[in-house]
Amino acid sequence: MKDRAKRRVGVMGGTFDPVHHGHLVAASEVSNTFGLDEVIFVPTGIQPFKVDREVTEAEHRYLMTVVATASNPRFTVSRAEIDRPGTTYTIDTLRRLHAELPDDELYFITGADVLPEILTWKDADELWSLAHFVGVTRPGHELDLGALPSSGVSLMEVPAMAISSTDCRARVAAGQPVWYLVPDGVVQYINKYGLYRDGAAPHGRTGSRNEGTTAGLP
Ligand code: ATP
Ligand code: MG
Repeated sequence: MKDRAKRRVGVMGGTFDPVHHGHLVAASEVSNTFGLDEVIFVPTGIQPFKVDREVTEAEHRYLMTVVATASNPRFTVSRAEIDRPGTTYTIDTLRRLHAELPDDELYFITGADVLPEILTWKDADELWSLAHFVGVTRPGHELDLGALPSSGVSLMEVPAMAISSTDCRARVAAGQPVWYLVPDGVVQYINKYGLYRDGAAPHGRTGSRNEGTTAGLP
């Protein structure tokens, strides 16, 4: 089964504020379909399209992702983006991983709805040479990929697409449960540190908002 020359490595970038079962199911489904040997979760620093909201301190987002993935031997978490200041661009994440893992095939996993935005990302052309893109969609949801190159992109339906971090944060702020939307350990982590309670994200030490000179630019 594993006599392929190249290892296949999934890359899932995200704010993970907090990580939830939608992320985990997507990683698991893509893993199964494409025979991935590993999925690396990469909590991001600031993302160009999220500069308008306060993002939780990077260390909390990183640790929640570690807690959520700890039981899966094929899931790992990278500190690469949270340890560097400034805006996180997917192209830079993929360049770094490609340099670290030159013999592996990278599969970038993302919500299909953000795929069209990829075309507007910095150095979009190079993206296709660095990774295969897997866009995950809601079952029954038709998506027009428009001008995206069909050879570098696959679409896959995953069953937990209705879960979002935005909804999880709003629930905690409203005193509603997030049990079963996020892993048990993440519920406990959120409670332990009082995250999302007042509707505003705790920030500070490693928050790195607005430190990059390119913040806000695509
Ligand atoms: P927010 O609501 O704050 O935007 P989010 O739930 O979209 O958060 P992100 O950390 O922004 O979570 O997402 C990381 C990656 O996971 C993105 O590629 C996103 O499209 C994808 N994703 C988000 N929610 C789901 C889900 N329920 N199922 C599958 N993939 C998801
Ligand atoms: Mg999102």
